[in-house]
Amino acid sequence: MASDATEPTSVFVGIGSNMENPRVQVQRAVRALGGIRETQVSAVSSLYLSAPFGPVEQPDFVNAVARLTSFLDPRQIFGHLQAIEKSLGRVRNERWGPRVIDLDLLVHGMTVMHEDDLTVPHPGIAERNFVLLPLQELAPDLEIPGLGRVADLAVDENEPRISRLD
Ligand code: ADP
Ligand code: MG
Repeated sequence: MASDATEPTSVFVGIGSNMENPRVQVQRAVRALGGIRETQVSAVSSLYLSAPFGPVEQPDFVNAVARLTSFLDPRQIFGHLQAIEKSLGRVRNERWGPRVIDLDLLVHGMTVMHEDDLTVPHPGIAERNFVLLPLQELAPDLEIPGLGRVADLAVDENEPRISRLD
């Protein structure tokens, strides 16, 4: 099904991995994003190494953010993200546990939606510096609907748990 949009939308996708050579997994995910129909990858942030949070003891994460330019709507993009997670070998298990790949739809233009399986903008953005720092690198002035400007949200320049890899 083709979407009706005549202008492409700017879309941001969060990428994370902490299993099976995470840097390679992130690179694979970026390549797969480039294969989504009616969509181009217009920018990819540096890779960031971040200490995991939550109750589960697990390896550090490699995180990045990709900017897409897409004619697809949020639901269509989300379907592709889930298919890519699956094709890269993600097995859904523990909520906060280690994962081969995690793809989150962070922002889709000005869309605000709250459905059972899909909330846009992604609900965790404002508390997650491992998302905000790579997002800031790509789009410091981006206004996240309902949250505010990225550079204002990513205030902690000295986040000790996150380092830039390249
Ligand atoms: P998280 O990404 O928060 O660490 P998961 O990847 O396990 O955790 O995702 C949990 C659920 O979050 C998924 O089943 C998905 O339906 C839901 N979800 C809601 N909104 C979004 C979004 N914008 N992007 C990705 N997943 C989302
Ligand atoms: Mg996820």
